[in-house]
Amino acid sequence: MPGAGNEGRPFDKLRANGVSSLALATGSTIGILGGGQLGRMMAVAALQLGYRAIGYAPEGDNVAADACAGFITAEWDDAEALAQFAQTCDVVTWEFENVPVAAVKALPADLLACPVKALEIAQDRLREKDFAASLGGQPAPYAQVETEADFAEALVRIGTPGILKTARDGYDGKGQWRVRSALEASGIRFPGVACVYEGFVTYETEFSVILVRGRDGDIRFWDSTANLHEGGMLARSILPAGALVEAQVPAARALAAKVADALGYVGVLTLEFFATREGPVFNEMAPRVHNSGHWTIEGAATSQFENHIRAICGLPLGGTATRFEAIEMRNIVGEEALEAHRILAEPGEPHLHLYGKREAREGRKMGHVTRVGHIIP
Ligand code: AMP
Repeated sequence: MPGAGNEGRPFDKLRANGVSSLALATGSTIGILGGGQLGRMMAVAALQLGYRAIGYAPEGDNVAADACAGFITAEWDDAEALAQFAQTCDVVTWEFENVPVAAVKALPADLLACPVKALEIAQDRLREKDFAASLGGQPAPYAQVETEADFAEALVRIGTPGILKTARDGYDGKGQWRVRSALEASGIRFPGVACVYEGFVTYETEFSVILVRGRDGDIRFWDSTANLHEGGMLARSILPAGALVEAQVPAARALAAKVADALGYVGVLTLEFFATREGPVFNEMAPRVHNSGHWTIEGAATSQFENHIRAICGLPLGGTATRFEAIEMRNIVGEEALEAHRILAEPGEPHLHLYGKREAREGRKMGHVTRVGHIIP
C-alpha cells in the first residue's frame, strides 16, 4: 500500500506524544498537487515559514516547480510516483480543484490537510449546487442535463436566457454555452457529457468570499472584492467592492462558514457569488486559494497563501484585515505579459507578479499586478 509506515511523520509523532497544538516542525515538507501559479505562490509562502514544498503534476508548464525543492512530473494514475510523493511529504494540499479524486485517495488519508470530499463536491457543478442549497445557499435555478431530452425539458422549466455548463472539468468560462433564446438553444450541439443548465442571473456585480479555516475550526475571512470578468475569466478584483456587495457579505459569509464546517475544511476556501437585487446568488466554490485573493499578498495583514500554509501546518492563523483604503488586482493575460515589465515604471508603485510561464498563449493567466491606495491608519 502506498505510503504505508507513516509512524515517523511529524503530525503522528505529535499526536503520539499527546501534543494538542499540531504544528509541523520547521523543515517539514508540504506536498502540493498541481503545478500552476497558485502552487508557485503557495510554495513561496511555505519557504518563508521554514518549510519546503514538493510538487506533483503531469507533464506541462509546471511553473510551481521553480519555487519547489522538488517536483515529481508524473500522470495522476501513476501509483508508484504517488507513493514516492507520499513518502517525501509530511502534509499534502492541492492548488487545482480538478486533481483526480482517485489520485488523492491513493495517498494515505492522514497526509491530507483537508478531506477529499471538498474536491469531490467542487469537481461537480451539480453536487456543488445541491450541497450549497442544502446548507441554505441560493444558487441560480438549475437542472441536471444528461441528454437532449433533459435539455429540452430544462429549457421549458427554467427558460431562457440561461447557460449550459459541463458538470465537470470547466474553468475560466470553458465548457459553457450561453443560450439567449429557445431558437439559439436549437443550434447548440449538445456536448454529450453530464451538464447543468442554469438560468442567467441578472446581477450588479460578482464577488467572492475567501476564508481560511484552521485545524482547530477557527475561521477568518478576507474582505470581499468586486470581481470583474471578461470572457468568463476573472479580469480584475477591486476593493472597496461597493455598498451592494458589502450588504450581502454577511449572508454569503454565513453560507461559506457552513460549507467549511460541514466539510471539516482546513485551509483557504473560496465561494463565488452574484450580487443581485434579491441577495447573494451562489455560483460556485473552489476548495483552494483563489485568483480573486491575490490582492491579499500586499493588501492584507496575512496573504491567502501564507494563511493556507499556516492552516494546513497547524500554525496560528494570521490576521486578515485589509491594509489599504483602495486596492485593485488585475490579471496579466496572454501576450500582454511580454511587455509586463513596463508596468514597473508606472506611477503608484504597482506590485508585479509574473508566473514564469514560457508560452504567452491567448487567454492564459501569465501574471497579475496589484495597486494599492492609502494605508488604513
Ligand atoms: P463559472 O465558471 O461558473 O464561474 O462561470 C464563469 C463566469 O460566467 C462567471 O464568473 C460569470 O461571469 C458568468 N456566469 C456563469 N454563470 C452565470 C449565470 N448563471 N448567470 C450569469 N452569468 C454567469
